[in-house]
Amino acid sequence: MPYCPNCGEEISEDDEYCSTCRYPLKGRPVRPVRRRDEKDEKREEEDEKAAIMGGMVVIWLGLSFLLQNAGVLGWADFGGIFLLGLGLIIVFRGLWAYSQSGVFEQGFGYIVGGGFVALIGAGIAFDLDEWWPVLLIALGLIVVVRALMTRSENPLP
Ligand SMILES: [Zn+2]
Repeated sequence: MPYCPNCGEEISEDDEYCSTCRYPLKGRPVRPVRRRDEKDEKREEEDEKAAIMGGMVVIWLGLSFLLQNAGVLGWADFGGIFLLGLGLIIVFRGLWAYSQSGVFEQGFGYIVGGGFVALIGAGIAFDLDEWWPVLLIALGLIVVVRALMTRSENPLP
């Protein structure tokens, strides 16, 4: 399918003028130039996000190793600190998706998942062995907040 060399809309081979922008097509070589569509842009944006998140995780892993090598962290703490940072990065990803789309649902999975990873990491790093019920409380709060938010979006008559 050829495309208008002026505006990029699809045209048919025997059009004299582009039906969208009235660009004269007769006698001009029609280049198969395609406008970048929204889907491509969205995919590129996702790739960009994934790259940034991956980079942040690697940076954080490097920092954790650095602290461990410097003797600041023991091996157990290393695992906990790494998980804590990883969780926070995932939460950040969720907040990012939320702020960009304005739709809380878009970031919800990341925020909940990242929050749990961060809590588990914090538990390991700071020896909060007796604090695990906090996870249950957090889970309950998340469910309640989510229910309230869903309801405010679709108020009952
Ligand atoms: Zn055109």
